[in-house]
Amino acid sequence: MPIPNVAVGRLAPSPTGAQHLGNARTFLIAWLSARAIGGRVVLRVEDIDSPRVKVWATDQAMEDLRWLGLDWDEGPDVGGPHGPYLQTQRTAGYAAALDRLIGQGLAYPCTCTRADVESAASAPHERSPQAAPAFGSRFLGEGPVYSGRCRGWRLGDRLPAEGTYCWRFRMPDRDLDVDDQVHGALRLNPRKLLGDFPLTRKSGQAAYQLAVVVDDAAMGISEIVRGDDLLPSVFRQLPLIEALGYRVPTYAHVPLVVGVDGRRLAKRHGDTRLAQFRELGVAPQQIIGWAAHSIGLIDAAVPVEPRELVEFFAWRRVRREPSVWDPGSGFQVDGDAADHARDQVVDRGKNQTAQEARDPIKQGRKQQGTQSHADGRGDRDVTAGHGADQRNEEKSQPEQQPD
Ligand SMILES: [Zn+2]
Repeated sequence: MPIPNVAVGRLAPSPTGAQHLGNARTFLIAWLSARAIGGRVVLRVEDIDSPRVKVWATDQAMEDLRWLGLDWDEGPDVGGPHGPYLQTQRTAGYAAALDRLIGQGLAYPCTCTRADVESAASAPHERSPQAAPAFGSRFLGEGPVYSGRCRGWRLGDRLPAEGTYCWRFRMPDRDLDVDDQVHGALRLNPRKLLGDFPLTRKSGQAAYQLAVVVDDAAMGISEIVRGDDLLPSVFRQLPLIEALGYRVPTYAHVPLVVGVDGRRLAKRHGDTRLAQFRELGVAPQQIIGWAAHSIGLIDAAVPVEPRELVEFFAWRRVRREPSVWDPGSGFQVDGDAADHARDQVVDRGKNQTAQEARDPIKQGRKQQGTQSHADGRGDRDVTAGHGADQRNEEKSQPEQQPD
């Protein structure tokens, strides 16, 4: 595996639909985290989720990112030493990794149907807050824990008929530790709390977890920044990384954007597509300013360029709570948007002098001067209960069900 001598971060849009405010926020953090320590950025398109992938969405995602002022050193459009940068063109790597896992006895064919998995699932009480306090409600979207019904298969045993099984990963039955930049030290037993998970679909296509782990290693990604709905997935990916002998990256799972009702941003909260804001004449700097403010990087949501934020990004400043999107305080598009936003901030007061509120970036820099720079670096488909939601974050649900 290539060992990067500089940090390498990644932007990994999934072209299953339009990119939204939530994506913009996560992408901004991922980009800043790498750029703040002089790192490189790779753009990788996670387009293997074929039934849901939209033909137009890859180009639009790249257009959205460029519009926001985020750039990358490697990607489908600019090339680079680790291409191709579309997952649909990288399937040979996934097949080779799967063969290695099968050869190590760490994968087995599973013929269970979704109904089998659900009816045989172990009791949900194992995912009680006592079992994994840091996870809170994050297990709710994880689906049932696979019972292990097909786990008895051994290398050399007969394979089921083609197309009737997926390959499942044999999870270790021991505690694993992860140190997350946002959530701190985490520990859980992945077999008990998550269960053996699919490495492929029944079609043979690589599933999300396998593809991501193989690509991150092959592209030398050293830091992974994504939405914290994927927090449990670290405990699927870590055993895979260990089994395949890859270097473990650093992780940061950032809070999602929610509506004023506290629920994950969805259609009921209004249209938050970046393309829609662009068409309405919203300046990308307004979106970045909103995101940077919601993250906790600047003291007011004033228009700002991503590159202006680089010098005072630090993980210790990133808020641990979800960001709330209130359409009522949405982006101004008429008149002088910047002045308007600044006036609103001054009106709110917020224990600042008007002058400080007018120039939060300067204020941020002033604060930065008293503190050290960046901290130490260190199948499921769209599912029941989320059917009406927009897919607002980088990736939403890990594959837990065969299909
Ligand atoms: Zn099975």
